[in-house]
Amino acid sequence: MQETILVRYGEIFLKGRNKGYFESVLISNIKRALHGLRYTFVRTQNRYHIEDYDAFDRDEIVGRLQKVFGLHSLSVAAKVATDYDLLAQTVVERMPADAKTFRITVNRADKRLDKNSTQIAAMLGGKVLEAYPQLRVDLHRPQAEIMVDIRERGYSYVFCDKILCAQGMPVGTSGKGMLLLSGGFDSPVAGYRMARRGMSISAIHYHSYPHTSEQAKQKVVDLARTLTDYCGEITLYAIPFTQIQEAIHRYCRADFMITIMRRIMVEIAERVAKQHDCGALITGESLGQVASQTMQSITVTNQAVRDLPVFRPLIGMDKTEIMETAQQIGTYALSELPYQDCCTVFLPKNPVIKPSLETACKEQEKIEGLAEMIDAAIRDAEILTLRPRYAE
Ligand code: ATP
Ligand code: MG
Repeated sequence: MQETILVRYGEIFLKGRNKGYFESVLISNIKRALHGLRYTFVRTQNRYHIEDYDAFDRDEIVGRLQKVFGLHSLSVAAKVATDYDLLAQTVVERMPADAKTFRITVNRADKRLDKNSTQIAAMLGGKVLEAYPQLRVDLHRPQAEIMVDIRERGYSYVFCDKILCAQGMPVGTSGKGMLLLSGGFDSPVAGYRMARRGMSISAIHYHSYPHTSEQAKQKVVDLARTLTDYCGEITLYAIPFTQIQEAIHRYCRADFMITIMRRIMVEIAERVAKQHDCGALITGESLGQVASQTMQSITVTNQAVRDLPVFRPLIGMDKTEIMETAQQIGTYALSELPYQDCCTVFLPKNPVIKPSLETACKEQEKIEGLAEMIDAAIRDAEILTLRPRYAE
C-alpha cells in the first residue's frame, strides 16, 4: 500500500476549450505552493495525485494545498492494487475506531470488473461486519463513510475524508488587480476574495509616518504576506501620504477631509496600477459601513478614477461575515492589532454622509500644489516584494 493525496479541482471543470490553459496555471500554482517539499506530481483524468512525499510533510502539504484557489477538495488515500481481498483489508484497517455506524461508497471507473459498484460495496461492507460485528450499516447518516474509488489501470483509492479546499479560480487567470490595503479587517478580505476569482494581487498602502508608527506599516506588510499564501507573490507599494494629508487638513473643510482623502487615494492607486499592468482597483468598501461608504460617498470617490473598474467584493457583506472570513484566512489577529493607519490621523468628528461631487471638487481644488505632491508621493513609494514564508 502506498499513501497518496488525491486532489480534485473545482470550477475549471466547466471550462470548455480553455480548460487546458486554466489547468496549466493551476498546476504551476500547485507546484509553487509545494516549493521546497519532496513529492511526485501525477496527473490522471480530472484528478491530481501527490505521491512519494515524506510522511511527516503530510499536514504541511495538505495545509498548503487547501490555500490553492481552483482546487475543490482533497483526500489522503491509500493506493492499492484493485484486488477484492486487498480492498477489503484496506477498508477494515481504515475504519475509525470510534464509529458505530458506517457506509461504504464505491465509485467504479474500471468497467472490466465482474461486479458493479453496489455489489462491491456490499461485499466490502460484509467484510467490515465480519471484522467488527458490533458495527451497523447506515446508508443515510453514517458516522463513518469509507470511499473506494476504483480507477482504470488496476489501481484503487480508499479514503475517509474529503477536505475542502479554497475553491475559486486559479490565481493568474483573471488578470492583476491593485488592492488598496489598509490595516483594517476589510481590505485583506477583499484581496482574498478577488484572488479567489483568479486575480493576481498587487497592493498599495498609504501611511502617514511619523504620525503613524513603523509598527502600523509592518502590520500591513504582515497582512500582505499572509495573503501571499493564497495568491503568491505580492508587490506592495507603500506610499508616503503625510504631506498630502496635512495639506487636506490645512486647506479643506473638515467634514470633507475623508472624502477628499479617498479621492486622492484612488487617483494615486489608478496611476500606480496603470504603471504596473493592473487592470482594476480593489477596495474593502461595504455599503453603509461608515460615512465614507454611503452610496453618495462611493459615487464621489469613484468619480476620481478615470478608466479602471473598481472592484468592491465586500459591498454586500455584513461586518460579521467579513470578520468570519478574516478568521478563516488568518488575517484577523493582525488586523486586530491597535496600530493606526493614516485614516485615523486628523480624523474629523462629523464627516459628511452625503457629500456632493461639486463641493468635494471645489474643496479639493483649494489644495495648493496637489499635483506636485501626488507626483512626489508616487515617486517616493517604497516597493516591497512579498512571498510566502516557505518560498524565502
Ligand atoms: P478596512 O478595514 O479595509 O480599513 P474600513 O472599514 O476601515 O476598511 P475605510 O477605512 O473607510 O474602511 O476604508 C475603505 C477602503 O479604503 C479600505 O477597505 C481600503 O481598501 C481603502 N483604504 C483605507 N485606508 C487605506 C490606506 N491607509 N491605504 C490603502 N488603502 C486604504
Ligand atoms: Mg480602515
